[in-house]
Amino acid sequence: MTKNVRTRIAPSPTGFLHLGTARTALYSWAFARHHGGRFVLRIEDTDVERETEGAVEQIVASMRWLGLDYDEGPIYQMQRLARYHEVVEQMIAAGTAYRCWCTPAELDAMREAQRTRGQKTRYDGRWRPAPGKLLPAPPADVRPVVRFANPPTGAVSWNDLVKGPISISNEEIDDLIILRPAPAGASGDAAAFGIPTYNFAVVVDDMDMRITHVYRGDEHINNTPWQINIFRVIAGEGAELPQYGHCPIILGDDGLKLSKRRGAVSVTAYQEAGYLPEAMLNYLARLGWSHGDDELFGREQLVRWFDGSHLAKSPAQWDPAKLAWVNAHHLRQADDGRLARLVQEELDRRGLGGAPGADELERLSRAAALFKDRCSTLVELADWASILFADVRPAEADLATFVNDAVRPALRTLRDRLAELPTWDKSTIAAAMKESLAAHQVKMPQLAPAVRVIVCGRAQTPSIDAVLALFPRETVLSRLRSA
Ligand code: GLU
Repeated sequence: MTKNVRTRIAPSPTGFLHLGTARTALYSWAFARHHGGRFVLRIEDTDVERETEGAVEQIVASMRWLGLDYDEGPIYQMQRLARYHEVVEQMIAAGTAYRCWCTPAELDAMREAQRTRGQKTRYDGRWRPAPGKLLPAPPADVRPVVRFANPPTGAVSWNDLVKGPISISNEEIDDLIILRPAPAGASGDAAAFGIPTYNFAVVVDDMDMRITHVYRGDEHINNTPWQINIFRVIAGEGAELPQYGHCPIILGDDGLKLSKRRGAVSVTAYQEAGYLPEAMLNYLARLGWSHGDDELFGREQLVRWFDGSHLAKSPAQWDPAKLAWVNAHHLRQADDGRLARLVQEELDRRGLGGAPGADELERLSRAAALFKDRCSTLVELADWASILFADVRPAEADLATFVNDAVRPALRTLRDRLAELPTWDKSTIAAAMKESLAAHQVKMPQLAPAVRVIVCGRAQTPSIDAVLALFPRETVLSRLRSA
């Protein structure tokens, strides 16, 4: 089982990389890496109408950001139309697929009649060949679809990697359309070969790409019997099927399915909101999988641990507070130089930031070291770093509370001392503060908040001498002067 593991993720390019897809991509990737196998990216782009501009680039960018490197792909289904057509022709010749000339109006009427009779709506097999059955003459003005001749009886059973044994009766499923003619106006391969449907293309691809394990969302459980039946027919009875694992949906914090209408559902949105990729990876992995009591882990640990066991059978709930906690942990662990670059990008986006260069990054790196313990996201870290660049506007209430007549003389002395310092660093600044306290019988709990409010715009900061040392001296002096 551990030999030649091949997994894939097969997103449809209809938008950004959805969190649910990212999670199954992550499981597929980690499983392949754990077993030294290969991970394939396939783009299921046959639904041309639902495709959105730039979606593939977005998906690839999100995968790269999460560090889900793939070994093969992206493979585009629309570039494989000749192959699907070839398999369809073989199936028709073998009698496992057949052409159907039903028009949409006929199908509607068929369903309506079934509903009236209180039956389940399903294709009634009217174009399905059978020994001794007389089929109508194909109408000249209808372009046929191709349907799979699903076995009429028996059941399809598999041992789901996530849910355990599942069995679905063939009587539950009908003869699925596997190929449609291309829409009017199509050209090239689409016009020549037609467009396969999802359940068919997925099987040809999983077979051709020798996929051994499929992890995907459990909305596909009902598709799996078709896929297994088609797989058996086209790959031959003895062929080894992929093993399927269906992960439960992710629920929003309101207990309903996580959806765009109720908040961010794309990986990109979390990237923009200041989450680190390793935190997303950690959080997403844990959402539906566990390794003992471990909540915080990195990429290597995940790969070492992820052998496909301990996947949850029931839905997990998206928990923004936990994600923030996980992100805060990874922020604290992150290298300050790297955080400096990320913060600089965020400040650039805000039109802030100083002159780009080594000095600037060094300063941001010290800022990251100082402030990151107080932050859950890079955006918060950038908020802190922004006080170094943008004018601060202390709240009136803070000024009234902390910058009073008792402390003003000490503030003036501090300003003078700071101006005279031979060097500008944490310890010289600390010494200047002590001298100012001593000169005016003022206590640190009076002076420090006043300086914080005036220079940083907030009454609470990390150690004020360290914070002041981050600023250019002139900025501190001019802010103190203006108070
Ligand atoms: N394109 C399908 C989806 O995005 C892929 C499902 C599968 O993995 O088979 O849901």
